Amino acid sequence: MPIPTNPEATEKRSLNFIEQKVEKDLAEGKNGGRVQTRFPPEPNGYLHIGHAKAIALDFGIAKRYGGTCNLRFDDTNPMKEDTEYIESIEHDIQWLGFQWDHVYYASDYFQELWDFAVWLIKQGRAYIDEQSAEVIAQQKGTTTKAGTNSPFRDRPVEENLRLFEFMNSGQATPGTLVLRAKIDMAHPNMLFRDPLLYRVMNIPHLRTGNRWNAYPMYDFTHGQSDYLEGVTHSLCTLEFVEHRPLYDLFVTWMKEWKGETADIEDNRPRQTEFNKLNLNYILLSKRNLRALVTDGLVSGWDDPRMPTICGFRRRGYSPESILKFIDKIGYTTYDALNEMALLESAVRDDLNTRATRVSAVLDPVRVVITNYPEGQTEQLTAIDNPELRDAEGNTIMEGNTHSVEFGRELWIERDDFMAVPEKKFMRLAPGKEVRLKNAYIIKCNDEGEHPFDLDSDGRVTTIYCTYDPESRSGLPGANRKIKGKTLHWVGCHNAVKAEVRLYDRLWKVENPRDELARLQDEEGLSYAEARAQMLNPDNLHVMNGCYIEPFAATMPALSYLQFQRIGYFNVDPDSTPDHPVFNRTVGLKS
Ligand code: ATP
Ligand code: MG
Repeated sequence: MPIPTNPEATEKRSLNFIEQKVEKDLAEGKNGGRVQTRFPPEPNGYLHIGHAKAIALDFGIAKRYGGTCNLRFDDTNPMKEDTEYIESIEHDIQWLGFQWDHVYYASDYFQELWDFAVWLIKQGRAYIDEQSAEVIAQQKGTTTKAGTNSPFRDRPVEENLRLFEFMNSGQATPGTLVLRAKIDMAHPNMLFRDPLLYRVMNIPHLRTGNRWNAYPMYDFTHGQSDYLEGVTHSLCTLEFVEHRPLYDLFVTWMKEWKGETADIEDNRPRQTEFNKLNLNYILLSKRNLRALVTDGLVSGWDDPRMPTICGFRRRGYSPESILKFIDKIGYTTYDALNEMALLESAVRDDLNTRATRVSAVLDPVRVVITNYPEGQTEQLTAIDNPELRDAEGNTIMEGNTHSVEFGRELWIERDDFMAVPEKKFMRLAPGKEVRLKNAYIIKCNDEGEHPFDLDSDGRVTTIYCTYDPESRSGLPGANRKIKGKTLHWVGCHNAVKAEVRLYDRLWKVENPRDELARLQDEEGLSYAEARAQMLNPDNLHVMNGCYIEPFAATMPALSYLQFQRIGYFNVDPDSTPDHPVFNRTVGLKS
């Protein structure tokens, strides 16, 4: 049978192991040649960059093979779930550039799962245990020692049915009754030792309200939801490898219940596991991210220091750069630690083709051009988007210009001037010439001509220069060779004062995930103590006295900018015309 590949999938890379597996299944005619995947987040937090890896795979596989991908909220734990999370998850997936075919909820299947569980009880394959969680855990045994059967394992069916109803009545105390599968307390896979199927939680659910008080466990929900939706390839992360046989067993049982035993091997969802994204100096996993928010260590889920999709968006990462990075690191079957530098380099490459070039001076010092007429200004042309072409000569960014206003007094960066220059200092210093970007060559007064003023602390306050009127960009005199560099500047008469937020990594250790576990397990620290030891105290530097050219102050929130010579920046949603705020996305070089 021909494999229905999508003609739009033109990447030249070789197939990853999951694509190979899908192609093999298609070639063997499994699931009638259909491909259907799902992205199954639990709506208990915001998505992070690890989820982007799962999203790119789930949606990517469906697209590549002409299949469908659905969004399924895995909402089986009403204790932690919220509509705020549902909305943010939908928004973030779309921002990344993907669109699901349907939205489903695991809670849509609560009735069917219940009926299935009742059938299992009647089949003698499930029973109600009334022992405490501790006792059940003690009876579990170890990998080398068989477990012990619960004294309630052989409870009569009628009693099981009655107690199961009671579990859902709202009268049962949580923790007193659970439904367990009757499998094998000596099974080599510990998950088969009579796993829990249902527990009592007398908590209203976002979607089903007070209808249910007994809720199915993850393992008793996920595979069956996949099966009920018609998922063919259920892609998840490596910690579920051990769960796969149980996933398969419950799907097999469910097909039996439905009377679909004829095609039991061919027509069913198949689980495949890939490695989780783990990035150096980054801590993923919602539990940890939520703790940073609730403990006030960041301003929210979308704080630009957060590795969440919304945090990266606010920081100024483009969706394209995140996806290029994901594509580069690929999918494997072993745990890895990827370099944050690789993500940053993907961001830089992408923003180079996207960012509007503007002038901003972060640490300003005043320059006065003494031979420029007082009160005069002039419009000069600045390139904001250089024309960029790819290797084949196709335009990837149109060239664009805007005008900037030059005047007698300008702001330049304080560290672009040295009163007593070091040997190889190529910027402004007494007696030296530099070019001002898109403008003129200026020369700082010589030692004898009063080159600068100092304040009482010895800090330079004003630098005195002259300009060469023949050297304006575009005039023949502009070609005059000088030793000094080209500096960026903004006009004192019209620059807008801005707040600029510079971020550093949140964690000082390279592998926060493992170090957090080590400090707790080996050194006996509490979670809070371990975390405090690992946090980088200098992860945010707010600069309030910056100046930007007026053009930059008009940019809407989330615009991609390059502050020339400094780095890539993004307009923060806190920004107002009177108080523009920018986040540093990433520097120009690693
Ligand atoms: P976390 O571990 O961060 O709490 P989770 O696994 O609880 O995340 P879910 O909402 O259950 O988050 O995950 C939705 C999907 O995203 C799952 O298929 C899960 O395997 C996948 N996923 C979660 N974290 C990562 C990661 N770091 N890398 C790749 N995929 C991930
Ligand atoms: Mg999870």
